[in-house]
Amino acid sequence: MATPELQQTLAKPAGFSGTSLHTGEKVSLKLQPAPVDHGIKFKRKDLQDEPTIDAKIDNLKTVERATTIGEGPVRVHTVEHVLAALSAMGVDNAVVEMDANEPPIGDGSAQPYVDLIKRAGVATQEAPRKFFNVREPMHLESKSGALLVLLPSDELHISCTQAGPNHRFTQYLSIEITAAVFEREIAPARTFVYYEDVEPLMEKNLIKGGSLENAVVLRGDAVLSKEPLRFADEFVRHKILDLIGDFALVGARIRGHVIAVKPGHAANAEMARALAREQARREALAVPRALPRGEGGLDSEEIMQILSHRYPFLMVDRIIGFEGETKCIGMKSVTINEPFFAGHFPGHPVMPGVMQVEAMAQVASLLLFKLAKTTGRIGYFMSADDVKFRKPVFPGDTMFIHAELTKHRGERLAKAKCHCVVNDAVVSEGELMFTFLDK
Ligand SMILES: [Zn+2]
Repeated sequence: MATPELQQTLAKPAGFSGTSLHTGEKVSLKLQPAPVDHGIKFKRKDLQDEPTIDAKIDNLKTVERATTIGEGPVRVHTVEHVLAALSAMGVDNAVVEMDANEPPIGDGSAQPYVDLIKRAGVATQEAPRKFFNVREPMHLESKSGALLVLLPSDELHISCTQAGPNHRFTQYLSIEITAAVFEREIAPARTFVYYEDVEPLMEKNLIKGGSLENAVVLRGDAVLSKEPLRFADEFVRHKILDLIGDFALVGARIRGHVIAVKPGHAANAEMARALAREQARREALAVPRALPRGEGGLDSEEIMQILSHRYPFLMVDRIIGFEGETKCIGMKSVTINEPFFAGHFPGHPVMPGVMQVEAMAQVASLLLFKLAKTTGRIGYFMSADDVKFRKPVFPGDTMFIHAELTKHRGERLAKAKCHCVVNDAVVSEGELMFTFLDK
């Protein structure tokens, strides 16, 4: 089994100063190491008692032009670039100390933060990282035309389409995000603004620190910038940067393929909220006290190393526990996103009985695997006898799948008695027969 990825913090503190975008004032920022499970917190050194704000989606306040978080009356604006750098460079735990309400804007990219993190160094900690694994497609469409789709993937991959007004500056990039890729391909991409959007803000004096030093301005088809574009498609790269920063507010690393069309802080934050909610729901389900535990279960990662089934055909989320060599209990949370609900039946979703039999077969296969302790032989589902469907299973139900091996004759044949339980009632049962073949 693969060793789990470990949490990381900074090896030592490191800081720099610069100008804040909205107030134009000088601000100093310092990254400090933090303990395991601390996450990222901002600390306002300029305020009495130095209050901290958790970089979590629950603390999101506004998403106009930049992402603002806050707790009580305390605010921190424009957190997305420093959060993107910390997340992509693999820093799970840190305190971001500041003596103003906004980090330095630097050159409008995440480059200064990548440099800072490299200067501090990264240290491994003794606790596994938290991941959010995208298990099934999730999507979000906003009124402004942003579209975000998440698909299962072993790594964070982002495919982004950026499109300006009247399709000006339409750009597309699809890229797997690792620390090295982020540093080279994404971090240097600068903030860009449309002249028509910033003109009223300049008049109202709302972006005192804004200049061609820290943003690229697009006026008509012209690109106004202090230095030439760093990439021909710099704008879509900055969109990816902002997305990584906003998704850092989920508080867990995302393993999935993000397809983003015209993303913005509002849509990014809304999706981050949905991910955090789903993460909380999964954690609540994983609370061990409510679940019977045998000698060690299997999580979904471990299951997928044994079974080759994948979404939408993987019918077991985890194995709660084994009892001896012959019994085990699996669990499947049945969500409205299961594809079969769309047609079974429109307006009246009921889980098909054959899918419950498939779930039994998968749990029984895991039991057989444990018995055989080898993946060299594969158990084929041959027949099912005495199958009964006793109660309907609906979206939102948690199904417990019990399997007991009743016979395993020689090396060739096995029989398992199975039943599925929802809310303490048996919903289906059957006797399944397997045969073994060499792979
Ligand atoms: Zn940005």
